[in-house]
Amino acid sequence: MKGHAERAAEFLKDAARARWHDQALWYVREKRDRLARSVPEWEALRETAHAIKRHTLARLERYLEEFERNAQARGAVVHYAEDAAEHNALVLDILKRRGAKSVVKSKSMLTEECGLNDYLAPRGIEVVESDLGERIIQLAGDRPSHIVLPAIHLKREEVGEIFHRRLGTTAGESDPTILTRAARAHLREKFLAAEAGISGVNFAVAETGAIVVCTNEGNADLGNSLPDLYIASLGIEKVIPRMRDLAVFLSLLARSATGQPISAYTSHLLGPRPGQEMHLIIVDNGRSRILRSERFVQALYCIRCGACLNTCPVYRRSGGHSYKGVIPGPIGIILAPHRGLKAYKDMPYASSLCGSCTAVCPVKVDIHRQILFWRNEVVEAGELGRFKRAVLKLATLVMRSEGLFAAAGAAARKILRALPPVFYNSRLTIWGKEHDLPEMPARSFRAQYRQYMKEKKSPAEKGERS
Ligand code: SF4
Repeated sequence: MKGHAERAAEFLKDAARARWHDQALWYVREKRDRLARSVPEWEALRETAHAIKRHTLARLERYLEEFERNAQARGAVVHYAEDAAEHNALVLDILKRRGAKSVVKSKSMLTEECGLNDYLAPRGIEVVESDLGERIIQLAGDRPSHIVLPAIHLKREEVGEIFHRRLGTTAGESDPTILTRAARAHLREKFLAAEAGISGVNFAVAETGAIVVCTNEGNADLGNSLPDLYIASLGIEKVIPRMRDLAVFLSLLARSATGQPISAYTSHLLGPRPGQEMHLIIVDNGRSRILRSERFVQALYCIRCGACLNTCPVYRRSGGHSYKGVIPGPIGIILAPHRGLKAYKDMPYASSLCGSCTAVCPVKVDIHRQILFWRNEVVEAGELGRFKRAVLKLATLVMRSEGLFAAAGAAARKILRALPPVFYNSRLTIWGKEHDLPEMPARSFRAQYRQYMKEKKSPAEKGERS
């Protein structure tokens, strides 16, 4: 299987798409910044969200039991699934018992993780994705490239072509309003005919037994209210203790995800509607292993807002399909290796370690620190390639010596300047003509750090008297 670098190189072959992808996501990041700045207590909210997650995950068993008790009291049937296979088998069993063969599903990263659609299709169940982006991807036979904007890698002309082929819209039609109307008419038929609805869950409130589902299209609401059978799948980490905690997360989620004050639809589901059967499947699928790891536990704080993807310079310029695993971007990098270090050993290197992901994360997951930890694990497991090992040894040698560092910097700059501009200053490269080579610092990082520490010392430490 190709590594991240090879897949990124493929994405970058279409320079126009790569540039547009980068700009589209940066636009979302800027919207997020504006909305975050408009909330004076933004940082306090992030701190609180982090503290709520830390508190809850340290007492997860207790809160899951409380949630289960209250959800059952409201009429939901609660199941636990150890892994993806068990989850899928449970869903199939529930559908079969009710004789349901057509399902409308709203966006759920957990069911993606479990490969639910691929499991159900050969068993005679038609699953229709009801989120517009997900439906586009499904009709195209593609896979999502972003956790919030699954079709962000496709241009509207391409969507028009997919709709023409699959939904019979006019050839060459790329007007978003016309395409959205066509999708709405098509999906409405599917909603009305569906025998079951399946969705993910954003939050599960222990105190009330309610599940909370946030969307911008209202598709989850149609899916969970129209059919007589509704199944919601949630990871064990989705539980939060109280309703008042929810306010903290809702203040952060949509602002971080798409730069909106709140999702268009935030639905609180307190049990099935009259005449309906409601099942909640609580899934582990490796999460309790992460829960036990002090280094990596914060990955479970994630509320899947996608902000770390939008800000990541590597993700924006390499596209979501360059990452292995279901979830791309920085959060994907720290989750995927839990499924097998060998298979995902290249993922921790798909990062510049700039820390922008950590800086925007609404729940303050220590993302870039975890990426570094994973690199450490890759090295310790002997999974680092020979070439990379040699390069890193050389780099260590150079960075440890002020003289070598200065000489290497000067030489590198000279060589780069001597190269024809096509290497660093052309439309052929994503670097683009608006960029120039960065100035090399005159002194090594080590020397700068020493100087910084020296200046930081208090007068007392320096032996000075006031
Ligand atoms: S890690 Fe943080 S920023 Fe990234 S998706 Fe999760 S909550 Fe959002």
